[in-house]
Amino acid sequence: MTLETEINTAAAQLKGRTPQETLTWALNHYSKIALASSFGAEDVVLIDMIAKICPDAPANFYVFTLDTGRLPVETYDVMAQVQQKYPQLNLQIMFPQADAVQEMVSTKGINLFYDSVENRKQCCYIRKVEPLSRATQGLEAWITGLRRDQTANRATMETVELDADRQIAKINPLIDWSNDDVWAYIRNHDVPYNKLHDRNFPSIGCAPCTRAIAEGEDLRAGRWWWEMSNQECGLHVTSDGRLVRAKS
Ligand code: SF4
Repeated sequence: MTLETEINTAAAQLKGRTPQETLTWALNHYSKIALASSFGAEDVVLIDMIAKICPDAPANFYVFTLDTGRLPVETYDVMAQVQQKYPQLNLQIMFPQADAVQEMVSTKGINLFYDSVENRKQCCYIRKVEPLSRATQGLEAWITGLRRDQTANRATMETVELDADRQIAKINPLIDWSNDDVWAYIRNHDVPYNKLHDRNFPSIGCAPCTRAIAEGEDLRAGRWWWEMSNQECGLHVTSDGRLVRAKS
């Protein structure tokens, strides 16, 4: 059976399962698996669920985050709270290559991303995409907090997808959840969360590339708002620009 067939079979089997059932299946099924966390609302929900499913550190599992060097202070605050509350979850903080950042900033300026889409993509590549490649090396699967109603791009995603670039599985346990479901879980389970969410930041990335949204705006409208057309950072698209999906 090819990896793609195996993943499509798993996606069919996991349809309608709860996030906890999907996580339990994934943690048992893969010998090396990690949760990608930016400490947004969905990520802290998943962290809490995994800590409850596996009170002891699962040996085959880690949480990783990408510290771009440009994160808001509130993200570091929730990162510290999560480290304190769930010390068993083996948090690995990935940093960009210092030489690459130095070269980019000295040739193009510290806020190069405002000057062109090309510059923004270069900055996201150096600070996020390349560290993500190192973080996912050797994994059989990675877990994300993606939900279908976050963007039109994500509307057709499945619980389990093929990450075509990395040839591993991508698990999206909250894919069927709404924003209200996420916040009900956070409140009911007293989960630490990024305080920027209380100031109309539903989606939080780097400080200079994220703004609060106005009432009625799309949930990801505050990300790279000056470009107006692209609210994906490259972490969930393939190298040729397609979304990471199980079926083409
Ligand atoms: S979100 Fe902005 S600061 Fe962060 S890596 Fe991308 S372009 Fe650079």
